[in-house]
Parts: sequence; structure tokens; C-alpha cells
Amino acid sequence: MTQTTEFLAHLNPSQRQAVEHYCGPLLVVAGAGSGKTRALTYRIANLVLTHRVDPENILAVTFTNKAAREMKERIEKLFADRESHSQFGKPLDSLPPYDQTKLKSKVYKNITKHLWIGTFHALCSRILRLDIEKFQDEKGRSWDRNFSIFDESDAQSLVKDIVTNRLNLDDKKFDPRSVRFAISNAKNQSWSPQDLEREQQNYRGRVIANVYSMYQDALVANNALDFDDLILMPVKLFRQNEQVRAYWHSRFRHVLVDEYQDTNRTQYDLIRLLVTNSDSTQTFDQWEYRSVFVVGDADQSIYSFRAADFTILMGFQKDFGDQLPDDDTRTMVKLEENYRSTENILALANHLIDNNTERIDKVLKPTRGAGEAIFCYRADDENAEAEFVVQQIRVMEAKHPELHWGKFAILYRTNAQSRAIEEVLVKHDVPYKIVGGLRFYDRKEIKDVLGYLRAIANPADTVSLLRVINTPRRGIGKATIDSLVRASQELDVPLWEILTDETSVKTLSGRSSKGVLSFVQMLQKWRSQLDTLPANQIVQGIMEDSGYMQDLKIQGTEEAEDRMQNVGELYNAVLQFEEQNTDDPSLIGFLSSASLSSDLDNLEEEVTRVSLMTLHSSKGLEFPVVFLVGLEQGLFPNFRSLEDPAALEEERRLCYVGITRAQERLFVSYARERRLYGNREPASPSLFLAELPRELMQSNVATAIPTRWTKPSAASSRGPSETTSLPDTHEDDWTVGDRVVHKAFGSGQVTHIFGAGNKICLAVKFAGMGQKIVDPKLTPLQRV
Ligand code: ATP
Ligand code: MG
Repeated sequence: MTQTTEFLAHLNPSQRQAVEHYCGPLLVVAGAGSGKTRALTYRIANLVLTHRVDPENILAVTFTNKAAREMKERIEKLFADRESHSQFGKPLDSLPPYDQTKLKSKVYKNITKHLWIGTFHALCSRILRLDIEKFQDEKGRSWDRNFSIFDESDAQSLVKDIVTNRLNLDDKKFDPRSVRFAISNAKNQSWSPQDLEREQQNYRGRVIANVYSMYQDALVANNALDFDDLILMPVKLFRQNEQVRAYWHSRFRHVLVDEYQDTNRTQYDLIRLLVTNSDSTQTFDQWEYRSVFVVGDADQSIYSFRAADFTILMGFQKDFGDQLPDDDTRTMVKLEENYRSTENILALANHLIDNNTERIDKVLKPTRGAGEAIFCYRADDENAEAEFVVQQIRVMEAKHPELHWGKFAILYRTNAQSRAIEEVLVKHDVPYKIVGGLRFYDRKEIKDVLGYLRAIANPADTVSLLRVINTPRRGIGKATIDSLVRASQELDVPLWEILTDETSVKTLSGRSSKGVLSFVQMLQKWRSQLDTLPANQIVQGIMEDSGYMQDLKIQGTEEAEDRMQNVGELYNAVLQFEEQNTDDPSLIGFLSSASLSSDLDNLEEEVTRVSLMTLHSSKGLEFPVVFLVGLEQGLFPNFRSLEDPAALEEERRLCYVGITRAQERLFVSYARERRLYGNREPASPSLFLAELPRELMQSNVATAIPTRWTKPSAASSRGPSETTSLPDTHEDDWTVGDRVVHKAFGSGQVTHIFGAGNKICLAVKFAGMGQKIVDPKLTPLQRV
């Protein structure tokens, strides 16, 4: 093995096969902790080091910013001590001509700067910053490159404003949150307001379609996008403009996606548009230097509420396999060894997930020792549970030098559960951080300052303008603002144009017009500095001149003090952004990254802390010691899933994700009584506890682990033995379109067929239940 490839020794043969894969499609499927992410990371390194692929031609998509950051770190580590890779790898003349010319003159010092690694949202925002001006929506409207990204709370306020102020609807009947959800759903299916109306022919559907249409108008008027548009728009743009698509297609010759089981249709469309060439004259030669490499685990699919669809993972070979002319044997790799967890933890996880009916069996073998038993703690209430957890952490931290605070994680089902735990952590002075919780960028003061920045960068962003026009107070009253907004609506121009129009401003009362004038002058001054001053100086100018900091200072409360510190932290974030993005340190670049960031932890100095997070945020991560708290029926699994078999299976996958985060030790706990949403309620242990193998567990009281689950719900029926009332069809001559009846899911229709012969699996769309994957051998289906 050459010096370049010595890192390949840290891989097993299957991983190696995946890592050494050079071109064409490849699917890596495997259970948790089997080194999927490792394989993906090493493959990037291998592409550059061995195949001498230009890092600029590589795109890696991760599911969270945290995962993106971790991946960057892992790759940097692989490249550590290597000044450049130019002297390694294959001799230049053995490379395809394209790579030769590109690489001859390039030597990369800091490789991750040149790779595109990030979330779907970050990728799309970068594409749109360059190309959004080439896009037109179905009404011929367009955006400019200074667009604002409205986050969920911005989007919801917009919906709320339309529902209550503009349409005068009852916001109890049309709860802005559920309306926003319906709009988001429609967007995820690429439906226009008209499509939505057609799909849902009832009063509610018509109203929501109307709100959707007005909401979209408002986004256009603000030159803004929401999170859904961010992904949808590049897809539409690529379909609309072949030149643009061809550019990005040639840019990314190697596309890699982690956590592929959680992609939704739109994200899938994007990948497909990037990877495949719609030009049917494309030859195999061109395809040869292109690859799409995805890794995933259907048992960890936990985002169906965001339209994630794991049938996409199962369909990969069929979707992309035909790109290779005659060889599809090399399109899938399975990994079967788990390197993360002790044998006990792994057995527990495997045992639990086996209770799901809709899954394809796979092998996951331990490579580590048995380890300690899993400990189950029954607490009297949530405070006692928190005391137990924190006590354990303190004892272990003191006893084992290698276990610093950063090695512990506490995982829970809902954000609200963190409060009780945080209190006890604070009481005992244990440093902690909440991962992916209330985002730093969601705090009021941060949104205010960002509001200034957005209003400067994007004059059409009326939402931001309204946020800051009288913050801090500068004598511009509500009536004044209303009349200005009305004028802008009547003339159908952005509010900014009214503010800068002297005649309109002169009609205002003296005090108001003075306030408006000085506000406008301030903004104009900052805007004129955009091209000449670095972003940090603009932020500094705002902090000083807008009166915002001054106002907080005068308030003098502890809260105001806190807010000032946060604004200071934002300034630090800008400085850091400029350091890290020397190629494009612009204010607009910073604003995108702020809209897409999910937590503050990359701004913190290197202090180790206990991590607190929801199970959803823990995907892909690992910790030596994990506490899984709140295993109570109705909390986890959550109450909405109790009557819904498919939702219950998703909760079980979430539990599987939680358990498999643990490397050395796992604690599970529940309380007999819990205060949730204000009410103190008796609680009973989770169904999932009853499903865990007792022989691997210890507990504080003998009866802590329920042996039987007394009230099994429909979905816990485990396999054929209990579902014998329907005849077992055992046929494999299925065809797409077959109509079937399933005992738990009702009637449905076959939409895809995966695999062949003995290994066949079907995707079935059940009325009102959505799409499911079933193995007709395990799940008796009746053809009708
Ligand atoms: P998840 O499904 O949870 O995302 P994963 O399949 O992506 O898990 P990784 O995070 O890549 O798994 O790997 C799990 C752990 O096992 C990591 O600590 C990784 O460094 C280690 N690991 C992976 N492959 C090997 C190997 N061949 N030898 C030793 N350790 C390995
Ligand atoms: Mg992973």
C-alpha cells in the first residue's frame, strides 16, 4: 500500500469496496454504527488522493449542519500532515484527460474549503445566490440574488398575518401553524395553490389554497424564499433552464449523500437532475467519470413528517442502476459489522427494531465485547429522573479520567423535557449545551439585528423593514406605519419605495416624518457601504448608530444585559465567518449561513459539555454514555402514534436511533408521574421497555421493567403467527397496480417492486396511510 492509501487499512473489505468505488452509482445500506459515514468520508479522501479528482468537483450532502461540520473535521484529519496531495496518487497520465488538465496546476492546502459539504438547504442557497435571477415562477415573477431566507418563525408570522388581518379568519379554525404546515406539504409535492385547490375540494382546502396564494405573493414582494422554496426552486430552475442545469451537472462529477433514507421527493429530484444527463445522446464514456454514492439505513428513517420517504432509498438501484449499461452487480454494498456499541447495547437495539413489521431484515454483528448491562431507572417524577441522570454523570466523570463532560448525552422525545434536566444540571454546576434547540439565530435580539442587515441587503424585504423601523423606538407610531404599508399595497411597490419618496413622507406628522427620514438616511448610509466595508464594520455601525445597544443599556436589566452579550456574540460570528470564507466574506453570504445554521456550538470555545438533544437531532452522532429519558407511554411513543400503526413503527425507529447512539453505556429511564404542558399526570412505562430483552438489563427496583405489555395496539402484532386470518399469498408474480388488503393497514395498491425472486419487496400505497414497504413473505397480503 502506498503512503497515499494507508488509511484504507482502517476499513473492512466491504467498506473498502465502497471507498474504492470510483464511478457510476453505488448504494451502501447497513444498520446503525456500521461505518457508513466513515465509508463516505474516506471515499472523498480516496477520490482526491488516489483518483486525483478535483475537490471542486465533489459534492457531499449531509442531513444537519452538525453532521457537515463533523464530516469536514473527519476529512481534515485524514489530510492532516499532508501539505498537498500533488505528489501522491496515480501518475497523471493514467487519469482521464479532464482530470489531468484540471489538476496539473492545482495544489490544495486546505481541502475542505474546496469541497462542497453541507445540508441540502446550504447547497441550494449557494446555487441560488449564483443563479436565482435566471428563474421565473409560473406567473413569470422573479427574485434577485439578494433574496432573504425566511425561517419557520418568519413564515408562520406571515401566514398568521394573512389569516387574521387580511382575510379576517378565525385563527382557532385556521391555526397558522397547521395552515403553514399544509402549505409546506403542498410545496413539498410541487403543488401550486391551484393544484392544492384541485386536490382538496372542500371549504377548508379552498381557504388554505387562497392563503397559500397570498403567502406566495408576499414572499415574491419581499424578494424572499422560505425553507421549502430553497430546495424546490433549484429543481424548477434546472427543469426550466437546461444551460443552468448543464453547468451544475458538469460541476459536480461526484455526488455523495449521507442519511439517504430521509430524503424527500424534491431532494431526490434535485440529486437526479444534478447527476443524470437529460441529453439522451450521452455516452457511457461521459458517464464513466461521474458518480452518485448514497448511504442509509431504512430502520433509521424518522422524518416522514417532513415528507421523507424511504422508498427512495429502496428504489436507488432501479433509479440509477440503468445508468450503467450492463453491469448492475456493483451498485450495492452491505456493511454488517457494528463498530460503535458494545454487544449488549447492540443486542438491545436489534431486539427492539425486530418488532417492526415493515422492514427488511439485515445483519448487524458486534465487533466489541459484551460490555455492561443496560440500566433501567424508575423515578417517582421528572425531577427525580433528572437527579438520577445528573448524579450518574457526576459520579462517572469523577471516577473515569477519560470521561469528560463531552462524553455524555441525554436524549429525549420532546424539547419540553429538557427543562427539568437543565435545572438539575445548573444546580450541580455541570456544563451542558442544547444541541439544535432554540437556535441562537431565533432569539429576539439576534433577529432584530439580522433584520437590519437583511433590510440593508435586500430593499424589497418589507418584513425585515417593519421589524426594525421602530426598534428601538424612534417615534414612528403604529398608525404611521399602517398608512405607509397601505400606500405601498395600493401602489403595489415595496415599502422601501414609499419610505424614500419625499412626497409621501412629507404627508406624515412632524415627529413621525422626522423619525422616518432619519431611519431612511441611516439605512441608505449602510447600504452605500456594502461594497466598500467588510460586513463586520457594517454590523458595528448598526450596533452603534441604530440606538439598539444604547436602548438595551438604558434598560439595565439582567435580561437586557444578556441580550447585549448575544448581539456581541453575533458580531463575533460575523468576524468568524469572514475568517472562514475568505473567498466570499460578504454580508449576504453571512446572512445565508445565519439563516441556515441550527445552533451556536461552532461559535463556542472548546469547552466540553454534556449534550442535551431530542432524539431527532441525535441521528448520526455517537457518545460513550447515553441517557434515554422519558420512556413513558404517550410521551415515547408519543400519543399521536398510539392508534396509528405506521406512526408507532416510526417511533420505534426513533428509539432504535437513540439506543444506537451509545458506545459504552446506556441508561434508560421513566417517571411514574410527570408534569407536561402544565398538568401533573400519572405515567406508565413505555411499550418499548416491555420489548427490550430483560436478561441484558438491570434496574433500581425489581418491577421497573414491565414484562408484558398489557394493551397491545394494532401495530405490535408481530409477524405472521398473529396475523393468520388472511391467507398467505406467497406469490411473487406481483405487478405494479395490483390491489391488496393488509390486516393492519387496510386496502392499497402496489406502486413499486424491489428486488427479484425470493428477495422481493413491495411498496404499497395504503388509503390514508401513505406508502409502506412490505415483504409479502412476512406480511400476509391479500390480492383483491
Ligand atoms: P449511523 O447509522 O448511526 O449514522 P454509521 O453507519 O454512519 O452510523 P459511523 O458513524 O461511520 O457509522 O461509524 C460508527 C463508529 O465506528 C465510528 O466511531 C467509526 O469511527 C467507527 N468505525 C467505522 N468503521 C470502522 C472500522 N472499519 N474499524 C474501526 N472502527 C470503525
Ligand atoms: Mg452515519
